[in-house]
Amino acid sequence: MSEGGTRSTDPAMPDAQLRAWLCESDPAALARLHAAADAARAAAVGPEVHLRGLIEISNACVRSCTYCGISVHNHAVQRYRMGRDEILDCARRARELGYGTVVMQAGEDPLLSGPFIADIVRAIKRDIGGLAVTLSLGERSDDDLRLWRAAGADRYLLRFESSNPRLYARIHPAAHGHPALDPAAAEVPRVGLLRRLHELGYQAGSGVMVGIPGQTFDDLVRDLRTFQALDIEMIGVGPYIPHPATPLAHDFDGAAGHGEQVPNTVQMALTMVALARLLVPDANIPATTAVATLDKNNGREDALKAGANVVMPNLTPPKYRALYEIYPDKACVNETAEQCHSCLAARIHSVGRCIGTGSGDAPKAHRRTA
Ligand code: SAH
Repeated sequence: MSEGGTRSTDPAMPDAQLRAWLCESDPAALARLHAAADAARAAAVGPEVHLRGLIEISNACVRSCTYCGISVHNHAVQRYRMGRDEILDCARRARELGYGTVVMQAGEDPLLSGPFIADIVRAIKRDIGGLAVTLSLGERSDDDLRLWRAAGADRYLLRFESSNPRLYARIHPAAHGHPALDPAAAEVPRVGLLRRLHELGYQAGSGVMVGIPGQTFDDLVRDLRTFQALDIEMIGVGPYIPHPATPLAHDFDGAAGHGEQVPNTVQMALTMVALARLLVPDANIPATTAVATLDKNNGREDALKAGANVVMPNLTPPKYRALYEIYPDKACVNETAEQCHSCLAARIHSVGRCIGTGSGDAPKAHRRTA
């Protein structure tokens, strides 16, 4: 039996054990880790899989993230921005399909103004009803975040991508006119923003990419500890997928040496999903589209069996979908909302789970507000 056959899955495991799990590749040991995470998921959040209808409302972006296919530097992308009525039509479709949440995601697009988004949030709450609203619009001003919260937005999704300031500074340059992040900083700026989102009364979701060039196993340990410390409601983890039109895809010198480079594989992402579930049992954890993209046959199912309890069916109108190409060959890109829904529902049922009803808040969200 490998060492992983006996290693603890106790949530109080020390950093050295977390690291050992992250480096584990023996299939039997990994099966045991996934089973422990699956049991923790069942005990903390039950059998339901919550559906969040994803609307990619704009692919315009002013940022220059070196990993992302829709960054300002990719001049080959045709840009779009959905109108108010188009967005509300998608939200109505979410309601018809029985979803409890809509997620509005976009590049960091200043033309999605504070009042424009606030008006849409109010219209969803007032005219459609029965939907929790999640925003994922990048790093926005405190004024915008307060305005949207007052308009009724429930959650905000902002991955910190990596908790290592040196790596973060390399992949996520500061906004135009802002000082560069000091690689010796104590934490990455998005971690502070996530704390602020909690202060404003949002449920906060975050996450990281796995297998970024230069990312080490110790970085992932730090990411997991950061999830714990932030006590966030949702943790999304997916493999980094190189996009040929981005600088990071051609940065062949950036990899970490000495066997420390984290691979950008489905297996690595599933290990992170399982460890996140063990460390933060009552969080919502999605089976991400990036995992499904690298393993179109079984990715979603395997994530659901390794601790995940959320999936995000895509509601973006088909004419825009392919343009929201943050990475290539994205899963579900050629499907209508209905096709995406029935495919995901079948996958959820195939692993013996059921579709959740209601807004699907993480139990910890209610602990926090109590
Ligand atoms: N502008 C928003 C939304 C970004 S897209 C924001 O910055 O928060 C949502 C997520 O997709 C990102 O947070 C990132 O983790 C992921 N992503 C972007 N490019 C990717 C790539 N090349 N491979 C894998 N995931 C990627």
